[in-house]
Amino acid sequence: MKNKIVCYFSASQSEQPIIYQLIKDYDLIINIIKADINPQKEGYLVIEVEGDKAKYDKGVAYFKSLGVIVEPLSETIIWNETVCIQCGACASFCPTEALAMDRGTMLVSFDNSRCIVCGMCLECCPTRAIQLHFEVKEAV
Ligand code: SF4
Ligand code: SF4
Repeated sequence: MKNKIVCYFSASQSEQPIIYQLIKDYDLIINIIKADINPQKEGYLVIEVEGDKAKYDKGVAYFKSLGVIVEPLSETIIWNETVCIQCGACASFCPTEALAMDRGTMLVSFDNSRCIVCGMCLECCPTRAIQLHFEVKEAV
């Protein structure tokens, strides 16, 4: 399985090699997407964790046993209308018609409520009008 999570660390935890332990002891592949970790300060890591489901569950349980707050990563798509050139490429890829072209006006629009964050539209946009946005809470 593969999952993206946000891990919030306390000041004391931020100096511990617990990501190393996660890799070594639970045989998980860790891809660090975003990080804000400083010595003696609270911080967070956004990571993609890949591996066997049972080991993933044990790894997350290990984090929680240390007091690390673990939350699923919330992703959303941002459409920047001001740089969109209305080429329609994204609308042809979007499986839910969240990005859709009006056949009358030939204008593209984005309905976030229909988006399932599949990522199909991200690579096709020539102007990078579509971006993946990670919702990360500030460390508490
Ligand atoms: S992420 Fe998927 S569902 Fe969302 S707008 Fe892009 S193609 Fe459509
Ligand atoms: S692919 Fe990009 S430029 Fe083309 S219509 Fe979609 S958002 Fe606009």
